[in-house]
Amino acid sequence: MSAGIRPQPGIMDIALYQGGASAIAGREDALKLSSNENPFGAGDLARAAYLRASHDLHRYPSTDHASLRAALGAQFGLDPGRIVCGVGSDEIITLLCQGYAGPGDEVLYSQHGFLMYRISAQAAGATPVVAPECERTTDVDALLAAATERTRLVFIANPNNPTGTMIPPEELARLAEGLPETALLVLDGAYAEFVAGYDGGAALVEARANVVMTRTFSKLYGLGGLRVGWGYGPQHVVDVLNRLRGPFNLSNMQLVVAEAALGDAAHISRSLSENARLRDWLSDRLTELGVPTDRSHANFVLARFRDTDQATACNEALLADGLIVRQVGSYGLPHCLRITVGDEAACRRVAHVIGAFMETQRLGAAE
Ligand SMILES: *Cc1c(COP(=O)(O)O)cnc(C)c1O
Repeated sequence: MSAGIRPQPGIMDIALYQGGASAIAGREDALKLSSNENPFGAGDLARAAYLRASHDLHRYPSTDHASLRAALGAQFGLDPGRIVCGVGSDEIITLLCQGYAGPGDEVLYSQHGFLMYRISAQAAGATPVVAPECERTTDVDALLAAATERTRLVFIANPNNPTGTMIPPEELARLAEGLPETALLVLDGAYAEFVAGYDGGAALVEARANVVMTRTFSKLYGLGGLRVGWGYGPQHVVDVLNRLRGPFNLSNMQLVVAEAALGDAAHISRSLSENARLRDWLSDRLTELGVPTDRSHANFVLARFRDTDQATACNEALLADGLIVRQVGSYGLPHCLRITVGDEAACRRVAHVIGAFMETQRLGAAE
């Protein structure tokens, strides 16, 4: 390393993001339930669009994403002029930090908040600040107490990952209202579609000048590998993000496949109804087995064990059966396993293995 060449402050403090594991050495039949992916994959319309788009690989993509923005605007009843599309919602989060936070500024999020908030804040040279949660749920009073005149951004995922809990729109409004004037509230709606009747915070964006919403195609739409997300905010924020993003940040492929997925009503409704049914079944079953969960509003459940050792041992039992879930120590919940809601066979397999594991724990305790 050259003594004179140094990265910007904060960058080497970033702990590298660890994605959900996707394979078990020596096992062909491993089932990945560690990244909140749609168990049915992408829909038929998205796949067909992907093949069609191969004819346009030599063309540069649109720089303004007008067609996808128009489709999003029509689908969710939003002004397309205030939508900005990115390489996953991760890119929108990164651009928000780049645009609004730097050295000396604070980026606030809650205790078990998404890891990308911290990473993006540090990448921008800003200081991450964590507010405690109450019973694994966002605590508006704690966030308001932690906000200072240096706070530039406040990130809330609602529903949150990895807890699956959420707070009602009135609480989000109270947070937006109570923040210092210099702070922008970002509502991460990665799981908003899973909550019937919830707009992801769009109404609050409309009502205020200090609220932005982010959304993604990675979860409900089954397109995590495609990398498309978007943001909706006041014009002044969208104007900043459009200046920061690359003009060709999204490929033809990303744009047309995302747009096709948005129109695949059959895939969307099947994914939603199966998720709701199996999530609640899995949650109830785990509770019966002595493994409590909070009521999840997303496409995963957070299983709470007695302690870290028990969670680690159960994780090993699941791995031994070819099931990959996520132990969420990096989110401050080392005694918990986050389990993506798979298809029916997957959920039954998870419940079966955890049931057998808990039985060995009971026998062990009785000895
Ligand atoms: C999965 C997830 C995202 C989505 O990330 P993409 O970059 O759009 O794939 C954003 N926020 C949270 C809380 C998530 O869990």
